[in-house]
Amino acid sequence: MFRSGFESRALLLGALLAVCSAAVFAAPTITRLTPPSNPLRDGAEVLSRFLPGQRFDLQATVHAAADGSEVREVLFTLTEQATGKPVLQERVTAAAAGVQGARVGWRTSASAIDAATPAKQPLVAPDVAVASVRGVSLAKPGRYLLSAIATDGSGTHSQPDVQGMANGAGVLEVVAVQALGPRTRNVIIFLGDGMGAAHRTAARILAKGYAQGKAQAALAMDTFPVTGMVMTSSLNSIVTDSAPGMSNYVTGNKAQNNQEGVFPDDTLDAFDNPRVEYLAEYLHRTRGTSLGIVTTADVFDATPAANAVHSSDRGLGTGIVDQFFDDRALTGLRVVMGGGRKWFLPRDGDVVNGSARRSDPRFADHDDLRNGWTTRIGGSKVMPTLRSPDPKRNLLAEMQQAGWTYAPDRTALQAKVPDAPDRSASQATTPDALLGLFAFSNMNVAFDKINGRRCRAGDPAIPAFAGGCVAGAGGRVQVDGQTSVPATVPTVVEDYGFPDQPMLDEMTDKALQVLDRHNRNGFVLMVEGASIDKQSHQMDSDRWMLEVLEFDRAVARGKAYAAAHPDTLVIVTADHECSGAALIGAATTSVATLRANATAMPGAAQPAAQAQKAVGVYEAAGFPHYRIAPDGFPVDTDIDGKMLIGYGANADRYEAWLSNQRPNQDGQQPFVKQAPLSTYPVHPTVRNGPDDAGNFTGYRGYFIAGQVPGDQAVHTAVDVPLSAFGRGASLFAGYQDNTDVFFRMAQAVLGGTRAGAR
Ligand SMILES: [Zn+2]
Repeated sequence: MFRSGFESRALLLGALLAVCSAAVFAAPTITRLTPPSNPLRDGAEVLSRFLPGQRFDLQATVHAAADGSEVREVLFTLTEQATGKPVLQERVTAAAAGVQGARVGWRTSASAIDAATPAKQPLVAPDVAVASVRGVSLAKPGRYLLSAIATDGSGTHSQPDVQGMANGAGVLEVVAVQALGPRTRNVIIFLGDGMGAAHRTAARILAKGYAQGKAQAALAMDTFPVTGMVMTSSLNSIVTDSAPGMSNYVTGNKAQNNQEGVFPDDTLDAFDNPRVEYLAEYLHRTRGTSLGIVTTADVFDATPAANAVHSSDRGLGTGIVDQFFDDRALTGLRVVMGGGRKWFLPRDGDVVNGSARRSDPRFADHDDLRNGWTTRIGGSKVMPTLRSPDPKRNLLAEMQQAGWTYAPDRTALQAKVPDAPDRSASQATTPDALLGLFAFSNMNVAFDKINGRRCRAGDPAIPAFAGGCVAGAGGRVQVDGQTSVPATVPTVVEDYGFPDQPMLDEMTDKALQVLDRHNRNGFVLMVEGASIDKQSHQMDSDRWMLEVLEFDRAVARGKAYAAAHPDTLVIVTADHECSGAALIGAATTSVATLRANATAMPGAAQPAAQAQKAVGVYEAAGFPHYRIAPDGFPVDTDIDGKMLIGYGANADRYEAWLSNQRPNQDGQQPFVKQAPLSTYPVHPTVRNGPDDAGNFTGYRGYFIAGQVPGDQAVHTAVDVPLSAFGRGASLFAGYQDNTDVFFRMAQAVLGGTRAGAR
């Protein structure tokens, strides 16, 4: 029978379509399934573990087949592995996501790109759908299989891989809590950022001294009865940054570098990633605990934020501090102290007040997130229609209107949270909620804060480190647009404009006072010694050693609280090591000789071999002997035979073995490009080496070639120590992953510790 050419082609096309729709290559493909977040390597261990009832999101990214129709539906199924019973089934479509109050989300290229910065490359291609189910939880311990099947407009399904871990299927585990005995009520986490074993040893030698091979006394953290070791890797690297470093401790799940409280995803928005519930959120929701966050960093920084804020970009300060406040009902947040005032001040036209607030197109509000988590992000009372961080928002005023007591400096902190000799005094005078913002961005470090105090005290018996009373360039006179700092004592803290900053132990005391005043149901307090890390990056040995001392003095306050309140657990640990710090020995020469050498050195031309003679190794190092002043810090950091530090993860630097009068520039400070801060050394090479014009502004050091790119030392992948004190401490012995720490803290609070164990 004769057919026209047209009919033949139509028949052929029909047959081809029939073949295509049946073939695997024409089906939609699930390219990412969360949790755990694909792509995974075959045979990888289960990455996602949760507490019974802990909330998390399900999400699938689906690519339509090149010759298929658009993706219409994703069916998520959670099946109990032991029984094969499905325990959750959720069909996600655009229509389901559009229903009022729905906790499912459906986003395609169009909606994902709408929220994107035009200049940025869209991460979601036109033929991609992202389906989410928010706020899922599983009550019963055990292993579960997660599968997702995507269907396109022609009815073609994606092909789940029944083998398990690959495309479209995953395994997760709900970890049982055992009823062991007395339970922990309060958890205090002391997080020494970047603090490896070497940092702890250096601080002990400096502060306590050694003789005849023995430490003369212990750091507070050394006195904790249980110590374990922690493996610190993140989801995507052996070397973590601080965002996953903290997040992994308080979610029980691996986050990707630069991300906190979330799994990675494929959308552009930084605040819409699949979430996992934080320890503070879980305990606040189930038991009504409070949360306190204390840091020497800017409060938007990764470590503080990774206790309460969910974001895939740790750098988005405005959205991060807004979420602290707007979602405080999820965390029970009651105390925030540190630096970072620049995010809380409104940006108001040309007024120069230090504000760094800015709008961010990667911040978006989504109904599924709101419904699944009861978030109020962006939900300013003052501007209820606000949908993205508003540069003009006055968070400082808003928080005070909401009942927060605000302390801008140490004097105000003492006045507004007066010491309370007993509980009834505390009930009368301790505020409900406390906000302390003691600097525009990161607070000054102990070295410079103590120098400021010593210079003001003017006691000739306790001089400033490195002659620091004349280190400053003349005193900043502008704080929040007001002239408030007399330029009579030109130290570093005056240059920064914040001469009256509290030390970390003072902040810790006040945080504990506020949390204890309201302590019906327990609290979680995170105290961070942030600049152990920041000064290790700068390879400024004397500054980071004093940071560890400042941190340890705060640890002592936490230990004292736990000793008086035995239902408290205190852990001291780090998120990762920073700089590959190594205690290589001690100077064989006097400080006077080191200084003379540094003055005479030709800088870059100095032969390393000659400079190496100053380094006493093995028995030539002996025992460096620092004297400690009544303020708890060394009388001087430059002593004859001082301890010397090397770096295994270093960038290029010049080393003079002497304390630097001024810290390096901190790029986070809003006035860093203006004098006097602009006159500070830009990075470690310039600090003790020649500047572009060949001039030296600091001590002349000899050149040490680094092995990492950039101008700072970097984090390393080595394990870090964790020390524990108080109820539940025994749970932390031995080697553990950083996600294990979460389940051990939860065990202490939810199931307790065996009677008789600590
Ligand atoms: Zn760091």
